[in-house]
Amino acid sequence: MQKGKIFVVGFGPGDYEHITKRAVDALKQSDFIIGYKTYVELIEHLVTAKSIVSTGMTEEVSRAQEAVRQAEAGNIVSVISSGDAGVYGMAGLVYEVLIELGWTEKDGIAVEVVPGISAINSCASLLGAPVMHDSCTISLSDHLTPWKIIEKRIEAAAMADFVIAFYNPKSGRRTRQIVEAQRILLEYRSPATPVGLVKSAYRERQEIVMTTLAEMLNHDIGMLTTVVVGNSSTFFYDNKMITPRGYQRKYTLGEEKQPLRPHQRLKKEAEPWAMDQETGEAASGYEQISVQKIKKPKKSSLEMASLALSLVTKKPITSSKTYIQQSIESIFEVAVSPGVANKFFTSEQMRTLADIVGENGTMEYTPEHQIHLKIPTDDPQAIVDALRQVEFLVAPIGDVVNIKACDFCYGEKAESIPYAEQLQEQLGGLNLPKQLHIGFNGCGMACYRAVFDDIGIVYRKSKFDIFLGAKPVGRTAHAAQPVVEGLEPEQLVSLITEIINEYKANAHPNERLFKYFKRVKKILNFDYQDMMTKIKVEPAPCGD
Ligand code: SAH
Repeated sequence: MQKGKIFVVGFGPGDYEHITKRAVDALKQSDFIIGYKTYVELIEHLVTAKSIVSTGMTEEVSRAQEAVRQAEAGNIVSVISSGDAGVYGMAGLVYEVLIELGWTEKDGIAVEVVPGISAINSCASLLGAPVMHDSCTISLSDHLTPWKIIEKRIEAAAMADFVIAFYNPKSGRRTRQIVEAQRILLEYRSPATPVGLVKSAYRERQEIVMTTLAEMLNHDIGMLTTVVVGNSSTFFYDNKMITPRGYQRKYTLGEEKQPLRPHQRLKKEAEPWAMDQETGEAASGYEQISVQKIKKPKKSSLEMASLALSLVTKKPITSSKTYIQQSIESIFEVAVSPGVANKFFTSEQMRTLADIVGENGTMEYTPEHQIHLKIPTDDPQAIVDALRQVEFLVAPIGDVVNIKACDFCYGEKAESIPYAEQLQEQLGGLNLPKQLHIGFNGCGMACYRAVFDDIGIVYRKSKFDIFLGAKPVGRTAHAAQPVVEGLEPEQLVSLITEIINEYKANAHPNERLFKYFKRVKKILNFDYQDMMTKIKVEPAPCGD
């Protein structure tokens, strides 16, 4: 006799587009399909099984027993669950029934659990990106789980700032659970915490509601709803619920940007809140971004009153002392220098820098003749204003145009300074696919190394020489290629602007100018020439 097999199939949220191929295959080869009526109806059109056993909601154990019986008689059986069969579904139950009968994988019938898209995932996709960070699912059904345990789990999840997906939030008879869940959450999380309610995701009667922790109970929540509660940094944007991936946001002038490149991410300096591998401790000084562990055992009457008031008026409570304080730390990054041509700092500028950076920020001197500031703040404009007040040149950091000029021999060779300043005004800080340095030197000595920049500009005999595409670092470093000699000064700004515009429009993201030049072989009418003369490298002597 043929050995039977049980597939435990999660068929996803309910539409054909979101069921896996393996699930469809399993259903198609099954002699029996066993499941809860509503679910069987959802997949009925997909199957040709000779027998479909649909049962009521509460007959899960008999469903599992029937499946085992049929499989032991040599049939292929699919037991179906919505979403994923291993998430409040039939998978565990099937194994429990088998174990009861002394089943082992070696001797018994075959069992295959086919994974499916669980409600936390399907609902999250409809809300935006609310899960993203550490999350959990909690079923509010206390049919099989004591309410005391569910309560504890809600509290633990609330305390630890998990994003929470509540399954089985409410039914005709169970209406208090979600009210209690809200009450517990409000002890730790702001009433303004974003909450998404998704009913019948990817089914005919799909409904999506964006609300808050304080207001969620004013909306319809039922058996087919999943309630997704954000963590303390979740926010709404354009009717989407978003939980950011990390806990620190860096931004520079004019733009919010992803701060760390992949190779920087794992560095200790970049993520100082991480666990120290030797001591096993989190660095001190980062309490402000960790969860406040202290929960007051009892609320004061004032707190109770303000909570009640906030629920009635629907305004967030003003004092947030008891909530989790784990909002994202914003670090403003900006570059300063005394000016394009000026290399002297004044005492007042240095004092201002020290004041602005304070104890928590950092200042870093860079090869670009700038000082990079990183300052935790939510008022970047005040910082920029204070820096400009003392005549600092303030520039964004990142993939932007940065212009550095020489000191023009302390101003003795000053004729070309106005062109450098004009370039700074017109192009400084412009966003590009990759950082681009323009070196501007006031005489043919080019002692500030303009010919080692992405674009080198050298003033010589009242005209300009232009160099393109140096590779300033690495083992294959090379100088830039001379492309123009003796350019009339009044043509300078427009020529450089044209070069940069062409690069900006056509380069790949992250493609530095030299790479772009090498790839396309032509910028404006300048042809690429290989600046790397191949030099034979002698092997190192090995000694004896
Ligand atoms: N195994 C299923 C969960 C079964 S418990 C899964 O992995 O998704 C039933 C609960 O799941 C419902 O009360 C509801 O909270 C959630 N749920 C299941 N399908 C859903 C859907 N299409 N839309 C919204 N919630 C759903």
